[in-house]
Parts: sequence; C-alpha cells; structure tokens
Amino acid sequence: MAWDFEVDPRYAEQLDWVEEFVRDEVEPLDVVLGNPYDKTDEVANAIVHPLQKTVRERGLWAAHLGPELGGPGYGQLKLALLNEILGRSRWAPSVFGCQAPDSGNAEILARFGTADQKERYLEPLLDGSISSCYSMTEPQAGADPTLFRAAARLEGDSWVLNGEKWFSTNARYAAFFLVMAVTDPGAAPHRSMSMFIVPAETPGVEIIRNVGLGYEPAGHGSHGYVRYDEVRVPVDHLLGERGDGFVIAQTRLGGGRVHHAMRTIGRARKAFDAMCERALSRDVRTGRLATLGVVQEQIAESWIQIEQFRLLVMRTAWLIDKHNDYKKVRRDIAAVKVAMPKVLSDVARRTLHLHGALGVSNEMDFVAMMVDAEMLALADGPTEVHRVTIARDVLAGYQPVETLFPSGHLPTRREAALQKLATVLPGGFSAS
Ligand SMILES: Cc1cc2nc3c(=O)[nH]c(=O)nc-3n(C[C@H](O)[C@H](O)[C@H](O)COP(=O)(O)OP(=O)(O)OC[C@H]3O[C@@H](n4cnc5c(N)ncnc54)[C@H](O)[C@@H]3O)c2cc1C
Repeated sequence: MAWDFEVDPRYAEQLDWVEEFVRDEVEPLDVVLGNPYDKTDEVANAIVHPLQKTVRERGLWAAHLGPELGGPGYGQLKLALLNEILGRSRWAPSVFGCQAPDSGNAEILARFGTADQKERYLEPLLDGSISSCYSMTEPQAGADPTLFRAAARLEGDSWVLNGEKWFSTNARYAAFFLVMAVTDPGAAPHRSMSMFIVPAETPGVEIIRNVGLGYEPAGHGSHGYVRYDEVRVPVDHLLGERGDGFVIAQTRLGGGRVHHAMRTIGRARKAFDAMCERALSRDVRTGRLATLGVVQEQIAESWIQIEQFRLLVMRTAWLIDKHNDYKKVRRDIAAVKVAMPKVLSDVARRTLHLHGALGVSNEMDFVAMMVDAEMLALADGPTEVHRVTIARDVLAGYQPVETLFPSGHLPTRREAALQKLATVLPGGFSAS
C-alpha cells in the first residue's frame, strides 16, 4: 500500500538547498527591488539573472513544466514542496521561473497554441525574458463569465476586438495579453467566447489606469483597467478553436488555484514564524508572551490550521499527478481554493495582533498579508462560487430516499436488522 509522507532523499537535498538559497539570496531582494514583472528594470536584471542561472543549473527552473517545455517535469506534488518554500518571498517565483500569472498563461499556450504561437509567445515567456497578462474580468462582471461583453468580430483575415477589462494583472509590464471575448453571442453560453493573443503594442490597446491593492500607494498598482478599441489581430492570433474561450479559461485557472495554494503555505508559515518569535521575545508583567494561555492557544490553532491546509494541498497535488485531468480533481481544487484565504487571514491576523501597534504599521508586512488573503478569496473566482462547486460535486454522490424517515432512522434500522437476523437471534429477542 502506497501511503508515504517521506520525500525522496535526492529531492529532499534539493529542497534543503532551495531553503537556504531563498533565505540568503532571494528574500533580501524583496525589500529593495521593485516589481518582478518589470523586465526593463536593469538594476533588477543584473542581480536576478545570475540567480536564475544558478537555479537552471540545479535543474529547478520552471518546475511546473514538463521536459518538452524546458522544465524538469517533477509533477504537482514535488512542485508543491518547492512552491511552499518559494511562497515566502515576493521575488522567489520569478527567480525560479514559475511565477503567476505567467505560469498559467504558459500552460494554456503550451496546451492550445500552434507551433508559431509557441515560438513567438511561449518561448520568451518560459525563458523569463518577457511578462504576460491574462485579461478576462470586466468592470461590470467577474465571477459570472456569461455576463462578459467584450467582443471580437471577424473581418477578412483579422479579428477586431472591442471592450473593457478590469484587474488585468501586470498589463503595464506585459508583452502580450490573453483576452477572452464574445465571438458567438447566439451559441450556448460556454461556447460563446474565444481567447485571443494580443501583442501589447497593438494599436487600440489602452491602459486606462493601473489599480493598486489597498496598502499600495496611489499610482503604484499593477492591475490594469484596460480598454480594447478596434484592436485588430491576425486570425492566427486566436488561441485554440473559436468558442474554446471558456474551456481554456478553466484549464488555466485549475492549475493557477493550486499553485497559489502551494505558495500560501509558505506565506502563512512566514507569518507563523513571526508569531512564535514575537511570543518568545516580548515581555508582559508576568513574563514572556509565550507563557500566556491565550497566546499558546493562538499558536496551537495556527499550527493546526496550516498543517491541515498543507495536507489538503499535498493530497490535491497528488491527485492531479494521478489523474492528469483537472476536471477529475475539481472538488479538491475548489476545497483548496476555499480554505486558502482563511488560513492566511487567520494566521496573519493573530500575528499582527500579537505585534501590537508595530503589527498594523508599515514597518511589518502583516497588513499586506491580510489584504492578500482577501485577494486570494477573489482572484480566480470568489469563495462562494467554489463552495457551490464542492457542494454540487459532493451531492452528486448521494441518493435521495423515497421513504418518510431517513435511512439512518433508528427504529426502522432496528426493525430491518431484527428481520435480517431473525434466524440467529434467540426467540423473543428485542433490541430495545
Ligand atoms: C489581486 C487580484 C488579481 C486579479 N487578476 C486578474 C487577472 O489577471 N485577470 C483577470 O481577468 N481577472 C483578475 N482578477 C479578477 C478576479 O478574477 C475577479 O475579482 C473575480 O472573478 C470576482 O469578480 P468581481 O471582482 O467582478 O466580483 P463579483 O463578480 O462582482 O463578485 C463580488 C462578490 O459577489 C458575490 N458573488 C458573486 N457571484 C456569486 C455567486 N454565484 N454566488 C454567491 N456569491 C456570489 C461574492 O461575495 C463575490 O465576492 C483579479 C482579482 C484580484 C483581487
């Protein structure tokens, strides 16, 4: 029976190296360098390129990809063990070539792209020399894609796109956008949209503004509010088949959600480490914070939450490896997606609180962690929608009863058991 929590010794050695490398070489970049997606930042490039070279030499570059795309093909379980380390650092995913949203964009280009599309867009993306943007959500609709309005019409040998997109992450740094647009309004909702590759320099692409998260200063955001005004791309810039937009989006989001969850383990552990350090370092009148029962309770609760979540993520990663089909693991991915923001939010909030005023200040990153937890509850679909997915999938495995009382009704069960065992039970036996 295969049920093993050990990591194979050679990979465990790699992970030890990653721990040390991320702590010593990469985490310092988080507090001095700008945005990892800005490939024009020469100062960052000069520091990061040699680190990326080291990662390649260790065979850990783009670990989310198979060998045919230049990755080691470790599978999701090994990737999870790596990503939970990378999740501690803002820069680490880019240093290791597996940063979202580029990783998800690369995945759909690899699965649905033509040879030409792969050469022009996928190769430089995998190489780490360009950034990309996934442009699907609209200002008036996000969670429900059937309400999207951005449209594309076929004109000669071009597609012409019109519409607005909201929260298109990294639009300002992207070399190309993957844009979902309605192409067949009369078709069934899930066949009515298609996916297009739009080079950033195409006339008619306008970033109305860059929206930031709550803790970011105005003007520093990287979530583009983008207008597409008569944007013309050649017909060969359709990704997949006409009407495939929804299927492609699902493929992209399945992997993306799990990869976010893997990194969230690392982020929550980082908050947890800070909580424990604070508890052991700060005095109250009666002694260290760590000696107080209420503090111990928070530490225990946080540890349990992180470990429970980690097991759910690892099992889901293992299932993806086993089935190699996100559809078969839909429920598990949705469960991970629902659990993720709560774990990070709970642990970050406790840590923030234990740090007192310092905790809410801009000298620690706990406020950012809490906002990021809320972000994880929205990006790739809000929690409520994923709960519906889980409930529907679970309920599909159950049957209603036709009887007045439920199947667990004790008097009914007792009666049935007495009848079944009538020949072996002593005469006149009564269970009551
Ligand atoms: C940091 C971040 C990065 C993002 N990056 C991208 C990106 O790169 N590209 C992109 O296209 N999009 C991106 N998004 C957008 C994201 O996909 C949407 O925010 C998400 O799908 C929700 O859509 P919405 O914001 O329009 O919220 P709405 O759809 O308006 O939903 C708002 C709330 O309404 C409730 N709700 C909605 N539908 C239901 C339902 N069926 N049942 C119960 N309650 C419901 C939920 O409480 C939900 O949180 C990003 C979002 C964030 C926060």
